[in-house]
Amino acid sequence: MADPRFNRILLKLSGEALMGPGKYGIDTQTLDQIAEEVGEVVEMGVETALVIGGGNIFRGVSGAAEGMDRSSADYMGMLATVINSLALQDALEKRGVSTRVQSAIEMRQIAEPYIRRRASRHLEKGRVVIFAAGTGNPFFTTDTAAALRAMEIKAEVMLKATKVDGVYTADPKKDPSARRYKTLSYMDVLQNELKVMDATAVSLCMDNNLPLVVFDLTVPGNVVRMVRGEDVGTMVGK
Ligand code: UDP
Repeated sequence: MADPRFNRILLKLSGEALMGPGKYGIDTQTLDQIAEEVGEVVEMGVETALVIGGGNIFRGVSGAAEGMDRSSADYMGMLATVINSLALQDALEKRGVSTRVQSAIEMRQIAEPYIRRRASRHLEKGRVVIFAAGTGNPFFTTDTAAALRAMEIKAEVMLKATKVDGVYTADPKKDPSARRYKTLSYMDVLQNELKVMDATAVSLCMDNNLPLVVFDLTVPGNVVRMVRGEDVGTMVGK
């Protein structure tokens, strides 16, 4: 097997990635598939951290749109990410992958508190670290949390899993001539308002030169392919 291109990665999954064919919640079969993909990457010797969103359960903006206080709604969203993190931890451990969940909001009975140095140590020992509860602050997203944690643990790349295999010139479902960008600059993404991640997350990556790869998680083997350096998804960099 080819040597991996990266030694330490942070993989960001949206909460929706756990829904499978359902409309909300967690599909255990999908969870097992993700655990399998992550397990293969870990077996290649790649130190792997994960951040998972909460959109399959609750999003702060939706709560606020229905009249809730935005901060309260965002805290609910952060708790949703903890539920997903525990689900993912369970699936990974079943697959034989050693894991730790670290939460930005303390809940000692179910997760370690987020401690950067301890997270790095877990990674060095080959454990997957799942960062739960986003940044711990309302008004942020888990994409921003993922960029922040990736920088803190000095990941070489942030892998952003989506349902399309990268960023396209147009919507490939509507426009057959749409083509995939192999690379893009952070500025391209920001100026053209390309729907890669929210602007806060993209700016954070840009200011700190953290490369980002947008790729399709629904294609089996894609995470391994990308980590091996194959042409998968769109790379966003300088
Ligand atoms: N959230 C937050 N601060 C953070 C991360 C997340 O307030 O640092 C809340 C926010 O309400 C968000 C929800 O948690 O809507 C779920 O996260 P996100 O929408 O990023 O999940 P995804 O779209 O990736 O499933």
